[in-house]
Amino acid sequence: MPLNEILAQYPLAFIVIAGVIGLLVGSFLNVLIWRLPKMLEREWRVQAHDILGLPSETPLPTYNLMLPHSQCPHCAHRIRAWENIPLLSFVLLRGRCSACATPISKRYPLIELACGLLSAFIAWHFGFGWPACMTLVLTWGLLAMCLIDAEHQLLPDVLVLPLMWLGLIVNSLGLFVPLQDALWGAIAGYMALWSVFWLFKLITGKDGMGYGDFKLLAMFGAWGGWQILPLTILLSSLVGAVIGLIYLRLRNAKTSTPIPFGPYLAIAGWIALLWGVQITDFYWQFVGLK
Ligand SMILES: [Zn+2]
Repeated sequence: MPLNEILAQYPLAFIVIAGVIGLLVGSFLNVLIWRLPKMLEREWRVQAHDILGLPSETPLPTYNLMLPHSQCPHCAHRIRAWENIPLLSFVLLRGRCSACATPISKRYPLIELACGLLSAFIAWHFGFGWPACMTLVLTWGLLAMCLIDAEHQLLPDVLVLPLMWLGLIVNSLGLFVPLQDALWGAIAGYMALWSVFWLFKLITGKDGMGYGDFKLLAMFGAWGGWQILPLTILLSSLVGAVIGLIYLRLRNAKTSTPIPFGPYLAIAGWIALLWGVQITDFYWQFVGLK
């Protein structure tokens, strides 16, 4: 029996495989989340030097997603393959570097675990097929974006834009919504936040959010069609209010502390894509209109 028939017939096998692939992808996302902002910053420095006509700096050593090899930030011990197995290595090493015993940040196994669980969940939610496979790719991208934006207030174009195109491509093949809904979703998603941004700026003179947020909502429009936009915006303010309150409690931070909007938008859009129809149906039943 071919593999795709086996996976379609045994949902549990698909869930387990998706979970394991999710763990491995999570391990790669750790590298991406750590290195991509640094790579972009280096690129922007070089560009800024060019534009300002400054003498170029001495070229820096190669730094990309592959090189240099991962090493312990404390003792520069090179991480070997067996020390790089998702979750398992962290447990085997008891969370410490094998050379100098410096504790390894818990964020690494946590991101791997989160990615594994989310991937298994997507496999369970959709069952084997293209919708599951494409939503996996989207979920991995969103996870990386959430964590980069939370840390650097930056939603890299290099992640958001390809996923927006992918949304239009999958819907051109009729995967989630008609292409026309997806196209208008992308346009309306961008325009909605762009208008809010300029209105807010004209009234208060401040920047309320970044261009990355417009592109992210455009991306969700491309995946779920214009229909999911109102729910996404509504949910993102709910998610933002809840997480924001928890965050302020924990950090005892002032209300003016900038909290990036991207992660809320990402979580809200993801929920709207998976359960948008059920949530709006429930709402209409709740207010007694259906
Ligand atoms: Zn070390």
